[in-house]
Amino acid sequence: MTEQLQVTIESGRITGHINHTNPSHFNVHWSIPTWSNEQYDQLVRVLAEDFYLYGRLINDKISEEDKIKLLVSEQQWSSSCDCGSAQPCRHAHSVIFAFRQMTKSNPWLWFQVLGAPRHKIEQDILAYRCSLINERRDKVLNIMKHAQLRMDREFAAHAPSHSIWNATIATIPNPSFWNRDISFAAWLLPIYQAANRGEEQ
Ligand SMILES: [Zn+2]
Repeated sequence: MTEQLQVTIESGRITGHINHTNPSHFNVHWSIPTWSNEQYDQLVRVLAEDFYLYGRLINDKISEEDKIKLLVSEQQWSSSCDCGSAQPCRHAHSVIFAFRQMTKSNPWLWFQVLGAPRHKIEQDILAYRCSLINERRDKVLNIMKHAQLRMDREFAAHAPSHSIWNATIATIPNPSFWNRDISFAAWLLPIYQAANRGEEQ
């Protein structure tokens, strides 16, 4: 007896179509509760902040432990099947087994079935990381603004009450040439003599 199995994965649902050569087809439905907004936000936060986990995910190598962190669980999944046997019947088991095999090469299928397609998760991870960067930038700018205000206050507290010009003039020592004990004529004489020598040449 050969079987053909076709699996369709959608948000909140895995459908299996089992084609028996004899005598009939079976349709299996797995019904899966999708994530709440809070659960989805937590998934995005975990993936945005844990670069190693995110790296494992994009390399299709998530562990059972990772799945717990990523809120992936098969609890509360329920099945139904045309065969009428107690659930989960062997058809339901083969569908879920096929699904688990598919997730080994594409773990994003876990999220898709829980209500979040890959492109949406990746967009939201990017948005979350941008918001973290903006938040940190705002914190740094705030710290710088407060430091500037503190410096301004300290400068104002220690600045002299008189004007900067008075302070400058008061601190300049008298230039030495002001105190030379020579007359203006004596100071001018070498220049006068040099000028005369120039005329003689
Ligand atoms: Zn069945």
